[in-house]
Amino acid sequence: MKYVGAHVSAAGGIHNAPLNAAKINAKAFALFTRNQRQWNAKEPTEEEIRLFRKNCHANGFLPEHILAHDSYLINLGHPEAGELTRSRMAFIKELQLCEKLGIGLLNFHPGSHLRASSEDATLETIAESINIALDKTKRVTVVIENTAGQGTNLGCSFEQIARIIALVENKKRIGVCIDTAHAFAAGYDLRTSESFTEVFASFDRIIGFGYLSGMHLNDSKTDLGSRVDRHAPLGKGKLGMEPFRLIMNDRRFDNIPLILETPDSKKWAKEIKLLYSLFAVPS
Ligand SMILES: [Zn+2]
Ligand SMILES: [Zn+2]
Repeated sequence: MKYVGAHVSAAGGIHNAPLNAAKINAKAFALFTRNQRQWNAKEPTEEEIRLFRKNCHANGFLPEHILAHDSYLINLGHPEAGELTRSRMAFIKELQLCEKLGIGLLNFHPGSHLRASSEDATLETIAESINIALDKTKRVTVVIENTAGQGTNLGCSFEQIARIIALVENKKRIGVCIDTAHAFAAGYDLRTSESFTEVFASFDRIIGFGYLSGMHLNDSKTDLGSRVDRHAPLGKGKLGMEPFRLIMNDRRFDNIPLILETPDSKKWAKEIKLLYSLFAVPS
């Protein structure tokens, strides 16, 4: 079964996120659990946490279909010790909050070397950050998101993601989220059945479908290999509808959150409906 949803707003309190998801007929959702652009963002109150859990339960959202997204400020591969510690502490706090909220998955961008460290050393630092965070928490799977490879961001190749996973000690709590727009901008062509098949065969060979814990379904304003991250509404970008039709009809994408991060939130209900309409009932 497919669990399609969107990255919904938590404005007015985190407990509104599951309500916003239910309103657009989402079966899964993503959210920021705090302001994603502030280091000292306000924590939700005990009452908001209680209401969040209640609203998830009442609307049938399971922990494994809720994909929290971490703060944009966190860089688990930061080359400078003080900044790295700050990122690690913030990441642990986010994991602890997910535990309290009953969220199963925390999605993050691997990190950036900022031209101050080598790619290899940075991947090792990221894995060490993950090991520390998993050690300090009991539940919640940390989910590495592939990037478009903008600037010095790592995680734009399957090989880099596989390298991080190889260095993570607790492999039961590490997962991967593939963003279709990021993959395309990073040079993975998903536009035809043949190229899609090839890309995901290499994903399976290099990382393994067992680690796939979520997808971000976005069309791309930018070209193949552009390394520029600009999302477009489904079917309105350079990807077109074919990759989404292929995903909706492929059992390997069952039972994980398939999350829209397309630019127009008013279109999400329609886009969710459109995605489900692409599913061809096997005859
Ligand atoms: Zn992201
Ligand atoms: Zn993006």
